Amino acid sequence: RLSERLSLIAEYLPEETYFADIGSDHAYLPVYYCLNHPEAKALAGEVNEGPLNSAKKVIEEYEVHNRVEARKGDGLDVLEGRNVSEVVIAGMGGPLIASILERGKDRLRDVRRLLLQPNIHSEIVRRWLEENGFALVDEKIIEENNHIYEILIADRGAPSSLYTKDCKETELWLGPILMKEKTEAFRKKWERQLKKNMEILHKLELAVDEQESKKKEIIKEIDILKEVLYHEN
Ligand code: SAM
Repeated sequence: RLSERLSLIAEYLPEETYFADIGSDHAYLPVYYCLNHPEAKALAGEVNEGPLNSAKKVIEEYEVHNRVEARKGDGLDVLEGRNVSEVVIAGMGGPLIASILERGKDRLRDVRRLLLQPNIHSEIVRRWLEENGFALVDEKIIEENNHIYEILIADRGAPSSLYTKDCKETELWLGPILMKEKTEAFRKKWERQLKKNMEILHKLELAVDEQESKKKEIIKEIDILKEVLYHEN
């Protein structure tokens, strides 16, 4: 059974897709999708030998090698000579996803849709999409195995109409759709962050208080020492 996270990404692929899954690991998503959609084809990209071999094994095991190709390469390099229409990059940090997209953006010319699942710092990914001609069209947030995952779907085209002029920075951070929907997973993620921030603030305030009392103590000593040393009795 495919994880809920990868199943949700799969819902945003067209039936007749030729998609690439970059950093595919076991190639679960490409294999699952092609098993369930006879018209689909996929490319599983991997930079590391171990996961690449796992991908090849799973492809053989499910006998989908005629429609799923495992290719070794860094990021979007594996798109060379392959005309994919969708690209999935899941299970990595936002900065890594953005750097893979940035380094390989010339290879994205014919790509219609990006399906991205940053584990952290999704704001970096949203910003990259905004600056590079991909419009955010949908977002999801789910909790699975005690982790909270965000999924971003973006289509090539006009800038996203989801952002508003006044709140764009907040929307890039929290997600324009997610912050409107405020699902249970969204609340859980950001309430956790709010609690963490409040604790940090409290610690900073305590440190300031401590500094203040230390400062008073030092000033007092300076005054006494000056008095004793430099004033005649
Ligand atoms: N995409 C799968 C998922 O979401 O379940 C696997 C995620 S796994 C945590 C990340 C995978 O990305 C690893 O197998 C790693 O080898 C691969 N990876 C990391 N950097 C990469 C890069 N620059 N190009 C291709 N693959 C990369």
